[in-house]
Amino acid sequence: NLKIGIVGLPNVGKSTFFNVLTKSQVQAENYPFCTIDPSESRVPVPDVRYDHLVESFKPASKVPAFLNVVDIAGLVKGASEGQGLGNAFLSNIKGCDALFSMSRVFEDEEVTHVEGDVNPVRDLDIIMEELRLKDEEYIKKRVDSLGRVAIRGADKSKKAEFDFFAKVEKLVCVEKRPIRFGSWDAKEVEFLNQHLFITAKPIIYLINMSIKDYVRKKNKWLPKIKEWIDSHDPGAMIIPVSAAMELELMDLDEEGKKKYLEEKGGVTSQLEKIIVQGYKALQLMYFFTAGEDEVKAWTIQKNTKAPQAAGKIHTDFEKGFIMAEVMKFDDFKEYKTEVGVKAAGKYKQKGRDYIVEDGDIIFFKFNA
Ligand code: GDP
Repeated sequence: NLKIGIVGLPNVGKSTFFNVLTKSQVQAENYPFCTIDPSESRVPVPDVRYDHLVESFKPASKVPAFLNVVDIAGLVKGASEGQGLGNAFLSNIKGCDALFSMSRVFEDEEVTHVEGDVNPVRDLDIIMEELRLKDEEYIKKRVDSLGRVAIRGADKSKKAEFDFFAKVEKLVCVEKRPIRFGSWDAKEVEFLNQHLFITAKPIIYLINMSIKDYVRKKNKWLPKIKEWIDSHDPGAMIIPVSAAMELELMDLDEEGKKKYLEEKGGVTSQLEKIIVQGYKALQLMYFFTAGEDEVKAWTIQKNTKAPQAAGKIHTDFEKGFIMAEVMKFDDFKEYKTEVGVKAAGKYKQKGRDYIVEDGDIIFFKFNA
């Protein structure tokens, strides 16, 4: 189960935003799910294709894709040395596969800032340095123990790993850059996947604004944050949001929401965009199974072949895999029914080597 964690200094609005996400889950439907941890939430991923399938089939049961979000509390300056909640939460971050970084640009005298004043650029420096230091500590230990093995010449395979770590050490410990910054060949990517480096995780930058600033789309920090991200994490996504506004929206019904947003000059909620982008950052996608019994989105990794996708539903589907019968969503939308898609010659039978595509509607045939 891949997860995305929310990181940031205290009092920047992480919990507020997390609560919005959690509420969106409760509101959307009564999904059968169990809360393992109050700081973890399963949030339905909004998708008009899913809505369309539900509308068409009127199924007895419906299950969308979910994004797993973790609220990671307690990142402060010195956390890598055990300040605040220290190491406990850093291991929580290790367990996540991507991160939302939340920065505060809203001013509020009632809400103290741990560093004394609002300065999101300094905050980003603090957070990213703590994450880097944690990787540094891990890398140094590894280089040390691998070095001893490599020197003894005992193990050839260790030599490749040692070279990899030497490269990582130069980047992270000497140049003080995140692992994300490096370029890696296939072999190195394998090593990267074995070690849960924190600075390798993709980050989406959320900027928490006051409602007023969010509505007028202005805050003096925005250009400075953009500049910081351009030089520290080029190409990363920045999403301005107002946690306070999203929270107010949560308590309104559809009609109320519309009115609220209109009164604010036609701004929109960022919730859907944040959830969808978070899901994408995890390199996930889904296919659908659809019928009168159930419409369901099945989460898979990119580049999953048909038998393994079938295995998500049931191990027997994978073992006895015969074929995948596939409709493209756009065809289903155009021809309206399975019969219509068949008549148009767009209903396809695919074999073992078929790589499932995002949004495929699949019926698996298998030997029981
Ligand atoms: P966390 O420590 O990062 O999880 O921050 P919280 O979500 O607990 O927020 C800290 C305080 O800031 C709470 O009192 C929130 O009500 C307040 N807060 C959160 N978002 C906003 C915002 O957009 N504007 C203002 N004025 N206050 C906010």
